[in-house]
Amino acid sequence: MHGTTAGLRTDPDSRLAGLQHERPEWRAWLGLLGQVRRALDEATRDAPVVLTGGDDAGAQLSPGAPLLHGRGLELDARRLERLMNRLIDTAIEGEVAGAASLEGYRPGRSEVVQLTAAAVRQDQQEIAEIASPAGIDSGALASVVHLVTLPVLHECGRLLQSRVTPGWAHGYCPICAAWPILAERRGLDRSRRLRCVRCTGEWEVESLWCIYCGEREHRRLGSLVLEAPGEMHKVETCDSCQGYIKSVATLQAIPPFELLLQDLETVELDIVARERGFGRPEGSGFGLEVWIR
Ligand SMILES: [Zn+2]
Ligand SMILES: [Zn+2]
Repeated sequence: MHGTTAGLRTDPDSRLAGLQHERPEWRAWLGLLGQVRRALDEATRDAPVVLTGGDDAGAQLSPGAPLLHGRGLELDARRLERLMNRLIDTAIEGEVAGAASLEGYRPGRSEVVQLTAAAVRQDQQEIAEIASPAGIDSGALASVVHLVTLPVLHECGRLLQSRVTPGWAHGYCPICAAWPILAERRGLDRSRRLRCVRCTGEWEVESLWCIYCGEREHRRLGSLVLEAPGEMHKVETCDSCQGYIKSVATLQAIPPFELLLQDLETVELDIVARERGFGRPEGSGFGLEVWIR
């Protein structure tokens, strides 16, 4: 697999430019990530969300509830609308799969807010119900809306990471309920930390433990390695539930935007895992309830 720049801490713009050169077939997706990078920069200067709902509201509502559960998000709808329109244009221009159906689609502000709320909850059904009557490919719309939520969710992660319960014993994100995009084997002791690509949340879990079904029997937990020597990237698998997660050896926490790049750069691992019959759950790990104003 390619991955020549993986693991090096060069600045994200050079990484994007390098990948555009190395992997021209990723041009469309890299164009979208370039837009997201600019939106994330804007968001760090000017916080895009105010959280309401009280301290640890969700944790009091039900066991296993992530920190966003039961909270309200106050957002700037004009900013969401601008980002949505920029991403729609970039997706059409880059010929992202299904994006031609977005031609001429300019959702109103309330629809942008509704789509954002659905994406925060990972409610694919609601996104499909908006897409179908408008003749839009729901996969393409879901991809765009997922990216629209990232500046908001990154800010939620920044606000809530310090409140994550130590020893969070679930495979899904303790902040936003998504399944992690990868596991880091971090530092010299190779502690296993799960990372969420949506809110950048991180939480430490046991090494020999399936994050989906809780399997601990080491004979049923395996790994697929593509690159030798070094084993920098691999896939951790479970024979009990046929689940997999990508895993990366790293000295330090992977910076937020780089999680998106690492996910893309290790797409061959997803292909190999799926070819061998392993998969990842659709949707989120917990039925998140959030309100958006
Ligand atoms: Zn998360
Ligand atoms: Zn399992």
